This record gives sequence, C-alpha cells and structure tokens, in this order.
Amino acid sequence: METFSNVDHEEIAKFEKLAQEWWNPVGSFKPLHQLNPLRMNYIERQCDGFFEKKILDVGCGGGILSEGMAKHGAVVTGIDMGKMPLEIAKQHASTSEVNVSYHQSTAESFSTDHRSYFDVITCMEMLEHVPDPQAVILACADMLKPNGCIFFSTINRNFQSYIKAIIGAEYVLRLLPKGTHQYEKFIKPSELMEYIEYAKLHVEDTMGITYNPFIEKFSYTMKLDVNYMVMATKPSASS
Ligand code: SAH
Repeated sequence: METFSNVDHEEIAKFEKLAQEWWNPVGSFKPLHQLNPLRMNYIERQCDGFFEKKILDVGCGGGILSEGMAKHGAVVTGIDMGKMPLEIAKQHASTSEVNVSYHQSTAESFSTDHRSYFDVITCMEMLEHVPDPQAVILACADMLKPNGCIFFSTINRNFQSYIKAIIGAEYVLRLLPKGTHQYEKFIKPSELMEYIEYAKLHVEDTMGITYNPFIEKFSYTMKLDVNYMVMATKPSASS
C-alpha cells in the first residue's frame, strides 16, 4: 500500500479515455508513433544495444516504446497507472507476439521490490503528468543497477514551448487532443538535471527533439527549448 500517491487521477483519466486509439498511427498518439524510431535509436546508441538488457519502461502507456525495445531483444517490463492503456498494451503485444511484462504500478511502489534490478530505465513523456517528478526519479534511481543507464524525456517550459507544444500541437496542427498538456507542468532542463543529480545519478547526455510539421517528422537538435531527452547513469558503489 502506498502512503502518498504520486498520481494525478485527472491525468490518468485522459489516457484511459484515449487508450483505444493508442496503436492507431494517425490517431491521438500519432506523435509518439512518429517519435519512436528516433528515441529508439538514441537509447540503443547510448546504452550499447538492447539485446538481453533488463529494461523498465515507466509510464509505458499502450507500449509503443516497450514493444519496440522488446522486438530488439530487450527483456522489457512496462509499468503505468492507466488500466486501459495497459489492457491495450497487453493485447497488442500478444497479437504482435512480442513478450513484455506489464504491471499497473507507480515507479515508487514498484521500487520496493526491484532495488538495483534494471540495466536500463526509460521514462518518456511522463514526468510532465505527475505531481512530484522528483519522487519518480528517486524511485527510478533506486531500481537501476550500478552502471545502468536511464532516460527521461519531457517538454521544456518557456514561451517557445508554450507556442509549439500547446498552441501548435493541440490547437493548430491538432497533433494531440486539446488539454493533453498543462504548461505549468512542463520541466526546464535545469530543473530536470537538478532532480537527476539529487537522485545521485550523473547526467551524461542531452538531446533536443524538433518537429517539422511540413514533412511531419521529428529530428534531433542541439537545442533543448521544446521537447528533449536526458541520459544519465548510476555510478558504481565504489565511485
Ligand atoms: N511513455 C509512453 C507513454 C507516454 S503518455 C510513450 O512515450 O510512448 C504518459 C503515460 O504516463 C500515460 O500512459 C499515463 O497513464 C502514465 N502516467 C501518468 N502518471 C503516472 C504515474 N504517476 N505512474 C505511472 N504512470 C503514469
């Protein structure tokens, strides 16, 4: 039992409602489908391949990233607090004959019996939906093996990200349903890095992601002003 629940139930409800659309490449989760090859490539490069790695995908939703990593040979566990997204994830994995183990859990409660257990942890597009991102990061750090690597992605908080990620994506291009994101919950890279360092992880790399609406493609950029990813490692006990 959790004493404090770091879950925003209104946020979870949004994902429950849209879950049926999760694997529709032109539906509400189209950006995640378009983004997936790029982030897969980044993770694969940074952590030296997926093969036989024990990976935890925190806030996995319908499993777009979890399945992708499992297809590349990783042993993937996905956790999420949404019931329907997990149902969809399980159904999809079984029809595509991919093995992923899905559980309804927060990172905090999963960490109680998975200390230093995973080689790699991914937590993508999720921190901007939780009340206390620091608590999620601490729990993730706890579940990572020494020398393991961990990936976070989220959205920066500034005028440009407001215009691009909310006005542009939700109202102009209609890439995402209106109300998907709340501006105040966006996280600046400096804040995310502070959370990460506070969890005694080392930031190793950052990567910005930019969207070109004309060709409908995401690509890497050095600028972290809207969407971005951070890779960190857990120092070995001796260092
Ligand atoms: N990481 C996935 C899905 C991102 S959508 C991807 O990038 O493809 C955000 C997901 O986070 C939703 O499925 C939502 O249910 C989940 N989520 C939000 N708050 C959560 C929490 N506190 N614990 C676990 N999952 C949470």
